[in-house]
Amino acid sequence: MGGARGGYLKRRLLRLKVGFLLTEGPGNSKDVPICLPQRVQVASDLYLESLTGNLVLTRTKEGILVQGTLQVSHARECDRCLAAFDRAIELSVAELFASPPDANISAFSIDSHGEIDLAPLLREEVLIEESYRTVCRADCRGLSAETGINLNHEDEGSLVAAGPHEDGGEAIDPRLAILQQLLK
Ligand SMILES: [Zn+2]
Repeated sequence: MGGARGGYLKRRLLRLKVGFLLTEGPGNSKDVPICLPQRVQVASDLYLESLTGNLVLTRTKEGILVQGTLQVSHARECDRCLAAFDRAIELSVAELFASPPDANISAFSIDSHGEIDLAPLLREEVLIEESYRTVCRADCRGLSAETGINLNHEDEGSLVAAGPHEDGGEAIDPRLAILQQLLK
């Protein structure tokens, strides 16, 4: 995994050499494990925290069919509590890379170096995924409508969120409320 500089892997690693398959007849295939366990740049506006999985490349008459499942970790923001978290996504890939390039057959093609670039395909798939709402966890409690405090952190032992808030809100930790009643 050489060539990692500046804290992330370059998108060059998303290029697969497939020229050898082109010289073979239709039906021939090759397993290609994908193992990029650290941050990788997919496009100028898209990084993935990791990318692993397995692809099967199959020579067809029109080019090379790329099929498989990829596990992607992608930094997101929770739609409910706005916290940043890494979302694990499983992408099912089934795409023909045409050779020679033919827009009528596929938007993707094998370049003149006998390589395919997974980046545009990944970018498309991840952006589709990104358009859906997502939450950091199924039971995310979101933000308090009164104070804007992240309610997920209330259970973490900090009473900072329990006192009177600067904006005059009287949010009080339920545990303290019980204590208060006992004292009466
Ligand atoms: Zn959340």
